[in-house]
Amino acid sequence: MQKKKDNNKRAKNSTKERSSQTISTGYTRIDDEQRRIRRRKREMQVRKQRRRLIMGSFAACFVIAACAFAFLYMNPLFLKAEVIQQEMAEDFNPTQNIGFVFGGKVKQVQVESSVDTSKPGDYEVTYTYRGHKKKATVEVRDTTKPELELQTYATDLAETITPELFVKEVKDASEVKVRFEKEEKWDQAKTYEIGIVAEDASGNETIKKTKLIREKDEKGPEITGADDVDIMQGKDLDLQNGVTVSDNMDPNPSLSVNTDQVDLNSPGTYTAVYTAKDRSGNETTVERKIVVEENPELEEKIVYLTFDDGPSENTGKILDILKKYNAKATFFVTGNNQKHDDLMKRAHDEGHSIGLHTYTHDYAKLYASEEAYFDDLQKISDLVEKVTGEKSYLIRFPGGSSNTVSKKYVPGLMTKLTKAVQEKGYQYFDWNCDSTDAEGNNRPVEKLVANATSSSQKHINILMHDTDAKDTTVEALPKIIEYYRAKGYTFKGLTANSFAPHHKVNN
Ligand SMILES: [Zn+2]
Repeated sequence: MQKKKDNNKRAKNSTKERSSQTISTGYTRIDDEQRRIRRRKREMQVRKQRRRLIMGSFAACFVIAACAFAFLYMNPLFLKAEVIQQEMAEDFNPTQNIGFVFGGKVKQVQVESSVDTSKPGDYEVTYTYRGHKKKATVEVRDTTKPELELQTYATDLAETITPELFVKEVKDASEVKVRFEKEEKWDQAKTYEIGIVAEDASGNETIKKTKLIREKDEKGPEITGADDVDIMQGKDLDLQNGVTVSDNMDPNPSLSVNTDQVDLNSPGTYTAVYTAKDRSGNETTVERKIVVEENPELEEKIVYLTFDDGPSENTGKILDILKKYNAKATFFVTGNNQKHDDLMKRAHDEGHSIGLHTYTHDYAKLYASEEAYFDDLQKISDLVEKVTGEKSYLIRFPGGSSNTVSKKYVPGLMTKLTKAVQEKGYQYFDWNCDSTDAEGNNRPVEKLVANATSSSQKHINILMHDTDAKDTTVEALPKIIEYYRAKGYTFKGLTANSFAPHHKVNN
């Protein structure tokens, strides 16, 4: 209210002043009117200008927006970086480099990447969206140092020291080479500080320290397994077998055995000397006592008549002849003619030896594998034990241990089998005199006798065959016995300790 009154007062006063001016000059009223008109004109102009300005701004904004839209439409794909630094062997996801997709989604962008994070190098990634392509370069680099874990190494003064000896574990994305920080002789018995450098393929290096403990080794190697041994005269003994050597420092000490004094063919007590040496020059010797027991057979002149492939219908005739001459022989039997197994029993009961020739005598089956051979051997062993009541440990390989047929099935098989049968407690017998009755049926008796009596060795193992078709072998037998008997030979069946001729193994 107060304000209104004041305004009224002011209005009244100005009217008073104006009246006094009007009174003073006659043109004053007209001037005022003109001024008012001019002012209104100016105001109109200002308003017009303002309107124009606003309209102009609107137009400009519209143009800018249109341009922006057009630009984005032409370049809808924005990448975060055109060059990406990528650590080797770490995960790389090219999609993560997409910054913004105008009018679309990240997953609509096609990404083609040739990046191989396992190899340092520059690779290209191509992003395609609505036909627009963007490229980024990925710089795969190995900037990570190898992870290196070291260990203290203790050894004698003889070992050559290499940096690898100290490395417990080393890890890196690329191949790492280790070397000494500084190479020295390290030839004193003391503790050295050693610097090991691990360098990866990109030249990143890790250096760590560890210790080398050099000790003077004064302890010789230890020899085990050289226990005293009893053996039958004439038998083979591998004196290296079962004897081992170890050392506190040297992982590969040497071992040698001196058997110059040992004669396995003559009864007696012998000493074999084992010598072991480590790399520091420490030596250990162990003496092994070998008692060779007398084998009476070895002192005699003996013929071992052997008949393979039986029993047969000729077995009885052979047994009759042997009975007549009071001679003993050996039958290497098969399981192929079991109707005559009573003759196998008779042979055993009359004091002849029964040996295992195999159950099937089928080369393709027998020599198919080590396992196949032993499966078959078990069958003939069981059969012989069933028929005779006694287990046999005598073996004759079909074709002899020198056969090359087995090569066709398994290379190296006979080398394995000849060792394996002996390790299982068997003895195998080849022959050192061949009657040659296997070369055909009805071979002339004179030929068989001539061949079977061609040997003058102390121990003669004669190969013959006992089959239905070998009639001339039966006919030749008395003459063969008479020949050798006249020369002072006795006729014995084989035992596991008998002289065992072994052919050269060819497979
Ligand atoms: Zn045979």
